[in-house]
Amino acid sequence: MPESTLRIGLVLPDVMGTYGDGGNALVLRQRARMRGINAEIISITLDDPVPNSLDVYTLGGAEDYAQRLATRHLMRYPGLQEAAGRGAPVLAICAAIQVLGHWYETSAGERVDAVGLLDLTTSPQAGRSIGELVSTPLLAGLTQTLTGFENHRGGTVLGSGSVPLATVRHGDGNRVGDRIDGAVTGSVIGTYLHGPALARNPELADLLLRQALGVDELAPLDLPEIDQLRRERIAAAR
Ligand code: GLN
Repeated sequence: MPESTLRIGLVLPDVMGTYGDGGNALVLRQRARMRGINAEIISITLDDPVPNSLDVYTLGGAEDYAQRLATRHLMRYPGLQEAAGRGAPVLAICAAIQVLGHWYETSAGERVDAVGLLDLTTSPQAGRSIGELVSTPLLAGLTQTLTGFENHRGGTVLGSGSVPLATVRHGDGNRVGDRIDGAVTGSVIGTYLHGPALARNPELADLLLRQALGVDELAPLDLPEIDQLRRERIAAAR
């Protein structure tokens, strides 16, 4: 029997992937391979229907127009929704948290119906939220400070069907003044953290990997350069 391979869906990198968010898929693949687990990235572009059979999915940020193309594609080919429905882990960054909500309003004031995997809506704020974002996770299984950077105009408000990923210590997160970042519903996690988020937050990467592999534990990886990167970026936010 051939050895099984972890299949990582990189969703719409042709339209959603600002600030190197595609790196989240690379981090998942690398952290799997370093443990001797076969892993591959499946890129799903606007030319492809979205498969529902992959083990984990990542989506990145986008400009407003690209974000609309992505939204239309994901609603036309609901493979991501089907995968989330069976509990496949999904990581959605910045524009993608907005796309996975019920609707978002663009900077131009147009309201776009969205995918509805997360219980949230997004409307433009007076100014952009730009800079380092540091937060304390609320999600079970995460204990380490989350670090990244944000760059968005949309302000996101959660309904009762999603809980925040983290409380904000530095930066804005979902919306100016709310002091929370991200949204979690079932196996779907959204956040405003770029970085790429999983390069800066290995604990979050391993949580997604554990869910994708259906295991309780993974062998620890000793990567001092990641610890150093985290220290430097968290210090830079002060
Ligand atoms: N276009 C969205 C906003 O400005 C998302 C931006 C992004 O993904 N970086 O809110």
